[in-house]
Amino acid sequence: MPVIYFDYAATTPVCPQAVDAVVDALAHFGNPSSRYPLGREAAQRVKSHRETVARALGCTPQEVYFTSCGTEGNNWAIRRGVELNRRRGRHIITTAIEHAAVLETCHDLERQGYEVTYLKPDRQGRIDPQDLSAALRPDTALVSMMLVNNEVGSVLPVAQCVKLVKACDKSILFHCDAVQGFLKVPYSMASLGADFVSVSGHKIGAPKGIGALMVKKGVRLTPFFTGGGQENGMRSGTEATAQIAGFAAAVEATMAQAHRLQRTAAIKEYTLQRLREAIPQLEIITAGDAPHICAVTLPGYKSEVVVRVLGDAGVCISSGSACHKGKPSHVFAALGLPKPWLDGALRLSFSPASTREEAEALVSALKQAADTLFTTLS
Ligand code: PLP
Repeated sequence: MPVIYFDYAATTPVCPQAVDAVVDALAHFGNPSSRYPLGREAAQRVKSHRETVARALGCTPQEVYFTSCGTEGNNWAIRRGVELNRRRGRHIITTAIEHAAVLETCHDLERQGYEVTYLKPDRQGRIDPQDLSAALRPDTALVSMMLVNNEVGSVLPVAQCVKLVKACDKSILFHCDAVQGFLKVPYSMASLGADFVSVSGHKIGAPKGIGALMVKKGVRLTPFFTGGGQENGMRSGTEATAQIAGFAAAVEATMAQAHRLQRTAAIKEYTLQRLREAIPQLEIITAGDAPHICAVTLPGYKSEVVVRVLGDAGVCISSGSACHKGKPSHVFAALGLPKPWLDGALRLSFSPASTREEAEALVSALKQAADTLFTTLS
């Protein structure tokens, strides 16, 4: 059965260029720390891949540290960031709609005596910079704000908030989880101005198990992993040379795709229009600011059941972030949706390769589910 995939925010297929790069790097198996030619060649390759990632983020290669995933980058920046700013105080500001990699890290820090303010979104999942202004305190050590929300596709005003925070006090550190924004909305390290930016490879066609944390020049973040001193002493552990090669190849392949953001936005718009026409029960929670994510609901239906029924028909969508299976989504809850809307909330996410034929298959599978499944509203 062919799979109709509308869950690109959960993960993406590994692109052919990344597959080739991984296979090639596996054959060149040297350890970048080894001093003989096989090792030096591996080190040279990692250097060139770091330059590729730096170009995509508009920063210097020295600011790029490869990690195992977005979760690691978020943990590293937040945990070591608050330590770095210990003298300022123990107050953190974040939003109620961050990914679990940020929220659970903040909860853990609360258990260690930190105080965390969670900014609330509006109905579209947007955050008001004024709320951040109002939350700043003399003891605020760090702000963590995502660039694109993974469940509703809202774009958060990170650049504006960085300016506001730095105008209040330059020493307050700013971390941005840009995992869903990387190569999906235009930004650079310079345009965001954040001290730390985390990204992840598997959202852009790279294999799983690779990400990067950008640390702004001059910010003295300490290592999260200690050991052999790789990554300029900042992230010990033998470099994942094959994943790094796959990451750089995926970055290059993505950047080479003409009009990818417009194509993604257009197929999302088409799908939403067709869903509206075909399924009277369906409501749009938000069309999303980012081109690849939107959220809809079948009020009164159980989204987990809808997702399972569609999955059995070969159509992959999500009832929220794939990272907190089974639990109601904290993001949809934070939007203040009525309970029937919450119950039936679904995330659809797209790629430039998504087609109208796939959209039609999604629409007919969802229509069939809506017409046949039990709803508490009927
Ligand atoms: N942050 C956001 C916004 C995400 O969407 C995800 C993954 O879904 C992560 C962080 C975690 O990234 P990774 O899966 O690379 O750990």
